[in-house]
Amino acid sequence: MLKIHEMFASLQGEGPHTGRPAFFIRLSGCVAPLCPWCDTPQAWKGGTLLSVDHLFDRVVAEKHDFVVITGGEPFAQWDKGLFELDRRLFEAGISVQYETSGKVAIPKAVKGDVVCSPKFLDGAWQLADESFLTAHHFKFVACEESLDEIDAFVARCKLDLDRVWLMPQGMTRESQLRRMARVWEHCVKKGYRLACRLHVLTFDTKKGV
Ligand code: SF4
Repeated sequence: MLKIHEMFASLQGEGPHTGRPAFFIRLSGCVAPLCPWCDTPQAWKGGTLLSVDHLFDRVVAEKHDFVVITGGEPFAQWDKGLFELDRRLFEAGISVQYETSGKVAIPKAVKGDVVCSPKFLDGAWQLADESFLTAHHFKFVACEESLDEIDAFVARCKLDLDRVWLMPQGMTRESQLRRMARVWEHCVKKGYRLACRLHVLTFDTKKGV
């Protein structure tokens, strides 16, 4: 059984799959330390327990070939049934993308595409060693103050620049646009990729889109 906060069909608004039609499954629960800038604190607690069979049947009924599994922290529920959902979706030919902070180790056996957004909290990157090795992409929330820390992380870990995405911090359209040019210029200078938050630019603070 997995604890689910919400499910909905939309477009992926962030990262390498931006613009792609997707069915979102948002799992409930996250792990400490929690991020003060979190845009989904409503998913930290509560949720509805649903079986893997129920979730798989729902995806099939929705006729989606791309599922985004997000949170909260989805991999905190890997052993509670997420491993089975991952396997069943893979065997059914349905693509999966995970959104994770990497605070919980990203399982080596995961079959979906993993986009890890490491969090700099309490003076350090909160990333499990296994997550660094397993993530396919790194998507950093960027603002003027975080650029040096991101550069240091990329250099220290010798990350392939094709795996590095910068996304301007901003829970509102206005705050994201205010940072966009600075982050854009930094991406040009360093060879990173730019990832906007398309749903925020389109709908501003509206949730569930
Ligand atoms: S890891 Fe993600 S879901 Fe958890 S507190 Fe941070 S931003 Fe929110």
